Amino acid sequence: MKLSVHPMTLNLRTTFRVSHGASNQRHNVLVKIEHDGLTGYGEAAAVPYYGDTQESLSAYLNALPPLGDDPFALEAVLNSLPNGSHAAQAAVDIALHDLWGKLLGQPLYRLFGLTPAPLPPTSFTIGIDAPEVMAARVKESNYPVIKVKLDADDPEAAVAAIRRVSDAKLRVDANAAWTPEQALDLIPRLAQYDLELIEQPLARGAVGPFAWLRDELRSRGVTTPIFADESVKTSRDVAAHAGAIDGVVVKLMKTGGLREALRTIHTARAHGMKIMLSCMVESSVGVSAAAHIAPLCDHLDLDGPLLIANDAFSGLRYDGAVMFIPEGSGLGISPC
Ligand code: MG
Repeated sequence: MKLSVHPMTLNLRTTFRVSHGASNQRHNVLVKIEHDGLTGYGEAAAVPYYGDTQESLSAYLNALPPLGDDPFALEAVLNSLPNGSHAAQAAVDIALHDLWGKLLGQPLYRLFGLTPAPLPPTSFTIGIDAPEVMAARVKESNYPVIKVKLDADDPEAAVAAIRRVSDAKLRVDANAAWTPEQALDLIPRLAQYDLELIEQPLARGAVGPFAWLRDELRSRGVTTPIFADESVKTSRDVAAHAGAIDGVVVKLMKTGGLREALRTIHTARAHGMKIMLSCMVESSVGVSAAAHIAPLCDHLDLDGPLLIANDAFSGLRYDGAVMFIPEGSGLGISPC
């Protein structure tokens, strides 16, 4: 199997601002693994929050030892990857799975034993801006499920402004911006605007503050589910957060690909947690991989391709907020 590494710059349709920072472009990496005349595609998203850059991802991938000649030896090949960026490892995992499906002539979801029953609508993400700008964007987008990015700077004003113009399902993501005391003050007030869930209110790290927050909210009768994103990268973190959160946000770039994403999903289920499947700013390569395991999840937040203007692959289709799992073999996508 021959692996090659290609820089892939994604242009965002609008400036994307979250509590960690703002960007107009993302610099991801495309991986190709060629075998027997077939090509598997994978993508690594360079997420600034995790310290990855296009250069560091490319350096890791270019330095990999040979992957061997057996594309079905997924566990052995993936377990042999050196420690490093989970996003870079995800690109190898996704490309190998694409190749696996192409060799067997089946879409990945079928090889996982899943059915492409109608998926829940994916949310559309609104970055942080002035409340009236965020509200206007929600109205203009006309999506039935909206994910609102918030920070600690009067988040209630943003949610109130959005609620005035939209009755969409609202989920909010604080990206770790609140202290436990702020979260306990804010969440009961935000809950009045009918929120589906709240993502990562607190900093990642200690589990205790999440357990404290959940208990305090419950004792005040606030039952809005709290999901962990930054706090939970892999199945091991899920187990550590059992009893402290209601759900986990699974992303291939955090788990290091599809195999650990499946383990993370099953671990969360075993602990009675809900699952939201999400993505970074990724093209159709990374997001179509996620689409193939979407039938296992409760909520979808897979709007990456909708946020970018220059997707280099086709095959992943959306009808408004509803995504359709590609039917071709492997990932089911091809270069435009
Ligand atoms: Mg998040």
